[in-house]
Amino acid sequence: MQAQAATHSECIGQFEPTVLVHGGAGDIADSGIPLKKLGVKRAARRGYEALIKSGSVLDAVEGAVNSLEEDVNFNAGNGSVLTWDGDVEMDASIMNGATLEAGCVSLARDIINPISLARRIMETTRHRYIAGEGAMNIAMESENFKILQKGALVTEAAQKSLENYKASLNRTRSKRESQIYGSPGTVGAVAIDACGNVAAATSTGGITGKLSGRIGDSPILGGGTYADNETAAVSATGHGETIMRYNVVSRMLALVQHANHTAQEAAERVLNEMTQRFDETAGIIAIDHRGRLGIHFTSKRMSWAYQRGEELHFGVDAGEDQLEIVGEPRVPPL
Ligand code: ASP
Repeated sequence: MQAQAATHSECIGQFEPTVLVHGGAGDIADSGIPLKKLGVKRAARRGYEALIKSGSVLDAVEGAVNSLEEDVNFNAGNGSVLTWDGDVEMDASIMNGATLEAGCVSLARDIINPISLARRIMETTRHRYIAGEGAMNIAMESENFKILQKGALVTEAAQKSLENYKASLNRTRSKRESQIYGSPGTVGAVAIDACGNVAAATSTGGITGKLSGRIGDSPILGGGTYADNETAAVSATGHGETIMRYNVVSRMLALVQHANHTAQEAAERVLNEMTQRFDETAGIIAIDHRGRLGIHFTSKRMSWAYQRGEELHFGVDAGEDQLEIVGEPRVPPL
């Protein structure tokens, strides 16, 4: 039996509606910080506005992720990194914590918003995960997706990253793969409404120089993404092979459910353990079933932002939490 979600307007005051986003974990260069901050702040605001206007946590995470997919400064949609052969192949997933419904897509091409394709798979098919040509057929059959010309998503910056990656491979055998696979920028969002309904979404171009057909953690439920009203909504970023092998998001949820951890405690414990055991890094954003936020990364940096009421918080470095006061979006009359 599926749980029935109460509606946002019936619950005003129970939980503080919040939209939290990340724009990727890794070695963000100092020069990239201002645009990363701008992008995550804009995305948190777009997601929050969608949440307040429609009351839907799915609209909130989709809207926030769309904003980052449209922004070339992030590794998703428009700014996606390239495979070894120089193509764009994107992964995305979205999950509704009230119903445990989910949609996942891999090897998406030539569209700017794979997260919306993941949502379409969730809402219009009897499957939960579709890859490649089958997924693109669903996009082509819908008016909501503009199918771009082959290669339209390939940016000069991504080509440069691929060249640098290939050139650095021989020189850096001793380095962690996550230090050399290119500029970080996978994107994700989690949201909670006034009733405690949560949702999560993650979208990515993957990692620079990946082999064609490689799929990362981002579309894997319990790997890089999950949402359950009874535990938490989580989106991960970082070295996908490691995140999958360690089952990062599932482990986090188990700590919240069975060991009474907060989202923050669980994120810190699982990521610190992962980095100790694998010597690879990752980051997490989460909102638990009591509305508490978790933001943690073992990489050098991770861009993140959240809006809650009039407060817009954001940061990139460990321990950073900047605050801007922004206006609350107007709630439409009931
Ligand atoms: N986790 C993503 C992947 O491995 C990459 C990232 O988050 O930077 O596909």
